[in-house]
Amino acid sequence: MSTPPPARAPLKPLDEMLVELMAFAEPLGRIETVSTFEADGRVLAQDAVSALTVPPRDNSAMDGYAVRCADLAAAAANGSAGLPVSQRIPAGSSGTPLAGGTVARIFTGAPVPEGADAIVMQEDVEAFEQNGQPYARIKAQPQPGQWIRRAGEDVTSGAVVLPRGSRLTPAELGMAATIGLAQLQVAQRPRVALFSTGDELVMPGDVPPEAMRPGAIYNSNRFFLRALLQRAGCKVTDLGIVPDKREATIAALRDASAGHDLILTSGGVSVGEEDHIKPSVQALGHLTLWQVSMKPGKPFAYGRVGQSHFIGLPGNPVSSFVTFMLLVKPFLLKLMGASGRHAQPVLLPARFNWPRPDKRREFLRARRTADGGLELFPNQSSGVLTSAVWGDGLIDNPGSQAIASGDLVKFYSFAEMMG
Ligand code: AMP
Ligand code: MG
Repeated sequence: MSTPPPARAPLKPLDEMLVELMAFAEPLGRIETVSTFEADGRVLAQDAVSALTVPPRDNSAMDGYAVRCADLAAAAANGSAGLPVSQRIPAGSSGTPLAGGTVARIFTGAPVPEGADAIVMQEDVEAFEQNGQPYARIKAQPQPGQWIRRAGEDVTSGAVVLPRGSRLTPAELGMAATIGLAQLQVAQRPRVALFSTGDELVMPGDVPPEAMRPGAIYNSNRFFLRALLQRAGCKVTDLGIVPDKREATIAALRDASAGHDLILTSGGVSVGEEDHIKPSVQALGHLTLWQVSMKPGKPFAYGRVGQSHFIGLPGNPVSSFVTFMLLVKPFLLKLMGASGRHAQPVLLPARFNWPRPDKRREFLRARRTADGGLELFPNQSSGVLTSAVWGDGLIDNPGSQAIASGDLVKFYSFAEMMG
């Protein structure tokens, strides 16, 4: 059991905090089988290996005619008007070998008959009949291989099509179906207990705006944290609001620790007299990580209560929102056994000036401009949730670095961070 450093110790840089936090995120290892239909957003727990080749056979990429290029060249040299159409191959059927000196009518997705070496699209063919026999006059000499989709060009039999640890998105679901998988083994959803602390908090719907007592505010964090957890693939137990009292905080943490993989709280994680999270976690378990050097977001705590991980997020809504995406989201993905990249930044030019940066690494709420740059929300206060609604992502600005218009800055989109 490690003792947390004193509150005055230098704040831990975000990168260090993330590395240390991730070291505690042992994959949970619980697996379940779900229908491929229901697997969007889940993490694959087993390699998906293809038992077949896709496409299974060479097939036509066009509605048109399957031909032998050499026959066409010979027919053209003889001044022939056309070649007989010897068979018709719609998608879903399989033809017979192509007789010499003939062509086959063929449709997109239908297997290319043996002996044919190119497809001519129907727009380049004049079809006519002679004595009741269909003929085709090919207007342009095809290249061998033209408009043929090759067997195995998508998937070869035995290939790992989706590795274990893949986060399933609609494209992955389609790919699983392509290789015939109706069900998938995925990581079970992490069970997360969520509560907000703060005597000032009121639930929307409990008190109408005009009747709010002085000092009261609506609980916004509960709504976005719950939605962020659900989007990340968690099963949320929403424990509501816990008052700023030591006994109540301890009782809530103790209850939450049973049957949950993570307890996530917001607020009360500073060192004020009304902040009971830290001593309460220490009373029941231990607190290992404490405070991170970033703005917004300095208050942040990681520890354990019983069998459960504990993460305390700041109360200020923007701080809570940003620390979730940068620290909690990767932690949850690792619990689910996800491999691969988390959100990746892009470099975009600033269309604003930021002359007085903070000493801490900043995550500024910004949005893309039509000309491919970034503009900044004017009020960067950690209490102003409008910045997160107006913005479509965060600029990652190193501590003490001023930004001048035209500078390239690192930008993380909310869509990618939340996805
Ligand atoms: P705390 O971290 O508890 O000191 O709270 C910091 C600030 O965030 C205070 O202004 C709180 O009123 C506000 N705050 C805390 N929790 C919430 C919440 N769930 N929803 C909205 N604001 C909150
Ligand atoms: Mg508070």
